[in-house]
Amino acid sequence: MPRQPDQNPEALQLGDNHQRRMLRLRRQRMAVYSYLLVWGATLLGIRIGFFEPDTPHWLLFGATLAANLVFFLIIRHGISERWSDPSLTAPQMIVGIILITALLHYSRELRGAMIAVYFMAMTFGVFALSRHRMILMSAFVLLCFASLEAWEWQQAPQTKIISISFGHLSILLLGLLWFVYVGGHIRNLQQRNQQQRASLRAQQRHLEAINLKLQEAMAKLEEVAIRDPLTGLFNRRHFTERFDEEIARAERSGSALHLALIDLDHFKQINDRHGHQAGDMVLRGFAETARQTLRRSDLLARYGGEEFVVLFTDGKAPDIEAVLDRLRQGLATTRFGDTPGFQVTLSAGLASYRRGDTADTLTQRADRALYQAKHGGRNQLVAVD
Ligand code: GH3
Ligand code: MG
Ligand code: MG
Repeated sequence: MPRQPDQNPEALQLGDNHQRRMLRLRRQRMAVYSYLLVWGATLLGIRIGFFEPDTPHWLLFGATLAANLVFFLIIRHGISERWSDPSLTAPQMIVGIILITALLHYSRELRGAMIAVYFMAMTFGVFALSRHRMILMSAFVLLCFASLEAWEWQQAPQTKIISISFGHLSILLLGLLWFVYVGGHIRNLQQRNQQQRASLRAQQRHLEAINLKLQEAMAKLEEVAIRDPLTGLFNRRHFTERFDEEIARAERSGSALHLALIDLDHFKQINDRHGHQAGDMVLRGFAETARQTLRRSDLLARYGGEEFVVLFTDGKAPDIEAVLDRLRQGLATTRFGDTPGFQVTLSAGLASYRRGDTADTLTQRADRALYQAKHGGRNQLVAVD
């Protein structure tokens, strides 16, 4: 039996989609953990006085977590799968960047350190955003931070120091440039890796298809090797193998075994009178009649020329004689073409397995029975023990 592929392509595709969605949700969980980390740091910052005491952390993080819940539901239910960015990376980053900017407003002396949190948000873009989008996202970060600084300058200039503002902006700019450059490189590596994996998968599928064809070809070849090409019956080689096995089985279990040798009568004359092709037709006709008359458990083979053999592994001698006689009559009444008198008969010799028999001794007895049938006038069956 050729082996079936484990899964059809559609199932594989579904599995792939499921895996991708799970990956997206995992990434989303990572974002939520990051928020919780920043929230913890903020609470600590408020406590030790590095953040304004009136920092509305509940409002800021509450709103952000609510936004994340919406993102989660959209990804979980596959709604975003139709969109160009199913992970919603860009919107999620934008929410994060806005939160960080709002948080920075309350950050006092910790502002320089808190700038690093922007890079935390940018990390999420490395694997999902194109270089072009990373540049736009960096511009958005710069715009947010510059707007915050400008707004604070306008609100309370006395609290601001221009060199520090520019210093922060410069560090942010350099950091973002680095992110775009290195991030792009990492993304290229990742894409190459994905391409290689896809090509490996394609090769594997190709190999599996070849393997399947090979197995089919081998199965056909095996079938051809045990068949006689003219009649489609088993050939002598296959019969001999099975015969030896059945003899061994009868020896072990004492089960009944009967062997019939069948020879078409005056077959030479058929060839001489009607031609070799008509002879072939008769051989095929006999095979067809025998297939219809015998049971599946009876092992029928072409022994050579116009000689056939049947091994009965199941049944009693009288029943088998009746079956063989039906076959004899079936052939005798078969019409081959329109030529008057074109009739074919058979002679058969039947022998039963006796303890101690080998394939040869059993065949010899069946052959002697066949000889008797020929000498008894042909078109008959002779059975011996
Ligand atoms: P008997 O009744 O004694 O068996 O006589 P017979 O003519 O059948 O016996 P014989 O063994 O003399 O002739 C068998 C013939 O079968 C000879 C051979 O040409 C023919 N034969 C063997 N194989 C094939 C075959 O594949 N196709 C055809 N058309 N004839 C074949
Ligand atoms: Mg013969
Ligand atoms: Mg013959």
